[in-house]
Amino acid sequence: MKTSRAAVLTQYEAPLELKEFPLPQAIEPGAALVKVKLAGICGTDVHLWHGQLPIPLPVILGHETVGVIEEMGDGLTHDWTGAPLSVGDRIGWSSSINCNECYYCRTKPQPTRCLKRKAYGISYDCSVAPHLLGGYADYIYLRPGTAIFKIPEELPTEAVVGAGCALVTSLHGAERISVQMGDTVVIQGSGPVGLASLAVAKASGAATIVMLGGPPHRLELAKRFGADVCIDISTTSIEERKTRVLDLSGGFGVDVVLECVGIPEAVVEGVELCRDGGRYLVLGHYGNAGSVAFNPHVITRKQLTVAGSWGFEPRHTNAALKFLARNREQFPFEQLVAKQFPLERAFEALQATASWTTAKSAIAP
Ligand SMILES: [Zn+2]
Ligand SMILES: [Zn+2]
Repeated sequence: MKTSRAAVLTQYEAPLELKEFPLPQAIEPGAALVKVKLAGICGTDVHLWHGQLPIPLPVILGHETVGVIEEMGDGLTHDWTGAPLSVGDRIGWSSSINCNECYYCRTKPQPTRCLKRKAYGISYDCSVAPHLLGGYADYIYLRPGTAIFKIPEELPTEAVVGAGCALVTSLHGAERISVQMGDTVVIQGSGPVGLASLAVAKASGAATIVMLGGPPHRLELAKRFGADVCIDISTTSIEERKTRVLDLSGGFGVDVVLECVGIPEAVVEGVELCRDGGRYLVLGHYGNAGSVAFNPHVITRKQLTVAGSWGFEPRHTNAALKFLARNREQFPFEQLVAKQFPLERAFEALQATASWTTAKSAIAP
């Protein structure tokens, strides 16, 4: 029987364990067995490792993965866009599958809040067959109903993994609070979501973009992606940053602030950087990082529009791949994948992302 290795989270905040699982003996109709080429390590994986979201254990993490089709089930002939699929194709896929039947799928369309939504690398107990439902492994099994996308030949695997779930998250967020032509924008956070939001804001016609973040290697990337001003949060106070932003916006504050940090205090700071009538998007709080004292008076007084955005849909994955192919020169997402680790060093890769020593790390099994 053929097997696949996988790096398994068996206990929160403990090292990942390398285990072997049997490959499925038969591929269901509509499903696919995929050989993993590169599995990105997302900041969310760090939150999951800390136990900040309710997930089953043991679990194979990894929800931003690129692989090559090894075997296809009956009936799987085309990708989500209608392009023909065959064994050997390099593909990406939307990390979650919706039920298309529940209250949030049908009645009040908020599909990313589907009541039965399950995500690869997050929601599947790997002790249960077909086991291989996360990216930190030699193989991943894509269930029937997965939105699969053939990756254009000219697009490097590293660019797709570098953009990871950050670009799709940002594209979804942009539907809720969008940057308009000529807007002044502050982005809080220079991690993958912040950099992706920077790319989307730039492509949407922002006039001035201020990046608040760190460490310096991430701010370097922000500059490369087109940030007009980068402010290192480790060497400035909240008051200093506010003064800089007000100075840069005629004393009024900016049109749009995008929160891509995931630290509750950032929201308190961020709303103060909006002009009156400005827009504030909370995008970085995928994990539950706790609460903070907050004075809602600021929302009323400034007449703010505040929105949140959760996850993404297959149409965002489609849009992200097109965005990447179109804007490769301007936004080199492949540079985010600064370090690749073999599968047996998956835990080291996770720690590299956790400690911000790289923009992003990835596992190449
Ligand atoms: Zn993610
Ligand atoms: Zn549903």
